[in-house]
Amino acid sequence: MNEKRKSGISVGFVPTMGALHEGHLSLVHKSLEENELTIVSVFVNPNQFNKLSDFEKYPIKTEEDTELLKNAGCQVLFIPEKEEVYPDSYKSPQLDLGILNSVMEGKFRPGHFDGVVQVVYRFFDVLNPTRAYFGLKDFQQVAVIQKMVTQLSLAVKIITIPTLRNNDGLALSSRNLRLDPTQLQEATFIYQSLLEVKKLAKTQSPKKIKDKITSLYANSKLKLEYFELIDSDSFDPLEENWTQNAIACVVAYLGEVRLIDNTFVF
Ligand code: AMP
Repeated sequence: MNEKRKSGISVGFVPTMGALHEGHLSLVHKSLEENELTIVSVFVNPNQFNKLSDFEKYPIKTEEDTELLKNAGCQVLFIPEKEEVYPDSYKSPQLDLGILNSVMEGKFRPGHFDGVVQVVYRFFDVLNPTRAYFGLKDFQQVAVIQKMVTQLSLAVKIITIPTLRNNDGLALSSRNLRLDPTQLQEATFIYQSLLEVKKLAKTQSPKKIKDKITSLYANSKLKLEYFELIDSDSFDPLEENWTQNAIACVVAYLGEVRLIDNTFVF
């Protein structure tokens, strides 16, 4: 791949954990539009799961993924083995993630971003992409990757893609495969709660809305892990006043399935 890059060809890279859906494919389509060569990786990275059961239950759909990517026109599908990704000699870069490591995903999934940095750095190193594509559904992950690129002065441009949803507003996710039809319906509550934030934010403070949304979840089928209203640049929590780039971030469990979503408030 490095040879191709040296010869001047543009390479777009879409890292995934597979069980691909239209959300992933929107990243792939964007990459195909912007680059001469698109590489999609499918690797369920054990190092970014802090719960073994979550890792073990992660859906694997290699045949379906291959077919979807072929039909989309993707040129390279990269499915590495764990031993290739993490040879004994592999050293992960040390980064200072600051507040990103102590709020939301950083707080509730200790070690998760270390695993993300480890694997994405390794892939960038091996594939040397011109551009890499990430979904805004994992908003904090994008901030971590951007921080890595800046701190290490990596020559890759990070492109972000809006969250794709089904007709009911539920964010597409590989984990949705673990929900039964009733739960799929119940899960739409998450998007409804985000729409409610957007509506209430016209007249109410972040603090008030956080209390209101938290109590809505207490009366729902979902178990809230966190609901935060933060500034999307600084990740500082918002209390009395809004900032123009405020974002509402939520993680909730339906049964054992962990669902993540967010929306810009304005
Ligand atoms: P994953 O396979 O869950 O690690 O996701 C791979 C990439 O696809 C990440 O950059 C995700 O943010 C992105 N992604 C996942 N779901 C969606 C979605 N519904 N819409 C857009 N991007 C998504």
